[in-house]
Amino acid sequence: MRLENKVALVTGAAKGLGESIVRRFVEEGAEVIAVDMTPLSYELENVTGHILDVTNRDAVCDFIKDIETVDILVNNAGITRDALVQKMTDDMWDQVIDVNLNGVYNLVKHIGPMMMKQGQGSIISIASVVGEFGNVGQSNYAATKSALYGLSKTWAKEFSRKGANIRVNTISPGYIMTDILKTIPQELLDKFAKMTMLGRLGEPEEIANAALFLGSDESSYITGHNLSANGGMRL
Ligand code: NAD
Repeated sequence: MRLENKVALVTGAAKGLGESIVRRFVEEGAEVIAVDMTPLSYELENVTGHILDVTNRDAVCDFIKDIETVDILVNNAGITRDALVQKMTDDMWDQVIDVNLNGVYNLVKHIGPMMMKQGQGSIISIASVVGEFGNVGQSNYAATKSALYGLSKTWAKEFSRKGANIRVNTISPGYIMTDILKTIPQELLDKFAKMTMLGRLGEPEEIANAALFLGSDESSYITGHNLSANGGMRL
């Protein structure tokens, strides 16, 4: 039970990687506050589901006022709106920045200081292989995911300044079969699988295990780090 007596808050928890992370955390003894824009597609003991749009600053602020403790925050909510930059609408750019980047800021602004008062915590943000290497048609998405590295390294410094044991890290998954890949043609997914050293796409549980490691005390000396979980892929 690696997360016994820990409270975790996971965003984008209704399905996909968020759901896998919630399930893995609960298996290891955590109590989970699971938030998403849409209702959870599952029910689990020790999980409370909440409707929350991470882009709604006032709603996030009100929501966090009612929470006493968060030991682990997983910033997982994310979207894509893909197009070559010359074809990208301003709305596509703004939506992705708002969810993937502003959404993380909106939560950490409150939960980082809460963790400083607690004296401990682990903040994990889900970035992407696309943030590490870039990808055609994803400049908005790549911009947000690369930004998470700078933010996390900065927050790793800021939140540990007064001796608090707060670690801030990112996970950069490769291509993992969830709904976010629904718009990508199968031939391209096959190509991405061949581009990995392991010759396959990833499973949501493999990302959940990476989050478990960074959320648990097993990673107690790891902060300001990016953990690539992509089967050895270089885009
Ligand atoms: P998904 O589309 O299956 O799930 C994303 C979840 O986020 C959904 O439940 C959705 O409702 C929620 N969400 C979207 N906007 C929200 C908002 N404003 N407020 C609250 N919740 C919101 O996608 P996924 O594959 O599970 O992706 C999870 C994270 O992992 C994302 O940040 C994504 O960028 C990242 N990622 C995924 C992959 C992959 O291949 N699946 C690869 C790299 C990174």
